[in-house]
Amino acid sequence: MIYRNTLLALAALAVPAAFTGLVFGAAWGWGVLAVGLAALLFWHTRHLSRLHRWLANPVAGKVPEGRGIWDEVLAALHRLERDTAKREEGLADALARMRRAVQALPDGVVILDSANRIEWYNRTAEAQLGFEGRADIGQNIANLLREPEFIEYLQSSAHETPVRIDRGQALALSLQLIPFGQSQKMLLSRDVTHAERVDVMRRDFVANVSHELRTPLTVLVGFLETVRELKLDPQRVRDYLGMMQEQAARMQRIIDDLLTLSALDSAPPATDDLRIAVRPLLQRLGADAAALSAGRHVIRLEGETTSEILGVEGELTSALGNLVSNAIRYTPPGGVVTLSWREGPDGARFTVEDTGIGIEAEHIPRLTERFYRVDRSRSRETGGTGLGLAIAKHALARHDAVLEIQSEPGKGSRFSARFPARRLAVQPLVS
Ligand code: ADP
Repeated sequence: MIYRNTLLALAALAVPAAFTGLVFGAAWGWGVLAVGLAALLFWHTRHLSRLHRWLANPVAGKVPEGRGIWDEVLAALHRLERDTAKREEGLADALARMRRAVQALPDGVVILDSANRIEWYNRTAEAQLGFEGRADIGQNIANLLREPEFIEYLQSSAHETPVRIDRGQALALSLQLIPFGQSQKMLLSRDVTHAERVDVMRRDFVANVSHELRTPLTVLVGFLETVRELKLDPQRVRDYLGMMQEQAARMQRIIDDLLTLSALDSAPPATDDLRIAVRPLLQRLGADAAALSAGRHVIRLEGETTSEILGVEGELTSALGNLVSNAIRYTPPGGVVTLSWREGPDGARFTVEDTGIGIEAEHIPRLTERFYRVDRSRSRETGGTGLGLAIAKHALARHDAVLEIQSEPGKGSRFSARFPARRLAVQPLVS
């Protein structure tokens, strides 16, 4: 193409030159040819110079334009430049996406060079490891993470298992070095505070359950041995059997409560399409309180309503029933237990108020922990498992309700379940 065009251009010069030579003589003909060739050379040189200038400073999208054969050459260059720019843009995009993905990781990522200097890190690493913005880029990681466990890990060659360090009181991190590329390393940091806490809770829970069951079991085994080894009169045997039955019943209550808790843990979210009429629920709770009290307390019911709660009846009965039974169990005979229901635009509140022994303020935040009791022996004497309030809080939370506790030692306690308006369906009062 280029050869052909060049030949055409030369031919276009040669024809008038030959014509001039024929008409005005050979000298004129050569003269015209020389002038034409000089003009062609100048034209090429000009294009070459513009191309050279652009190549020295290749501004994207500013490839010079040309005519004739230069048009084709420069158009090809323009296409090449556009393709390169597009590819670069694609690469920059992919890199930015990668960075955004690594930024979004819940784990910290730090890229280190062969001399352990920081090249890059994500925001999680910045927060977990306490780096300070861009200022720490280029610093040796050993100057910033000075925990001896980490320094030793960094210097050793065994990096397969992560090392655990404490950052302050409330943050436990697991750090792992992963070599990559030529001699670079990636440091991964993971917040294991929550996982460790859950682990401790799980271990404590298993220990608590074992302890709670072992006590009645030990008593039971003791009685069994006594009854078997000793010759006892029938009345004594009956007494022992009665006590054994009490211990067995206690174990059964603990297991029932544990099963209730585990069912709450694994159940799907409490539905809001089943309606539980509040009035009969209150009356049932009042009747249960009366049965448990056996006439030792004054029991009052307050609040007239036609509302319905949206949720699961069994769970609510168990949650509110636990509050009621506690009020009876922790109120000495002669005390007053009041169950009340109040409604307002923000929702409703079920309250159990007693005039019982009350609770010291320091215990209140811990009452809903599994097996937490203020007075172990009193709880046990009254048939408590230490799980009632844990069940109540859990079941209420599944109904978007919160448990509120107010108490004064020696004066009494008030336990309230506060339901949001969206969990209520109000029926008009039928007169
Ligand atoms: P328990 O089976 O021991 O009653 P709960 O989880 O129901 O377990 O309650 C935890 C602890 O909270 C009880 O052991 C008791 O010390 C205290 N408590 C609960 N309700 C009352 C109340 N109405 N008055 C005084 N103390 C209470």
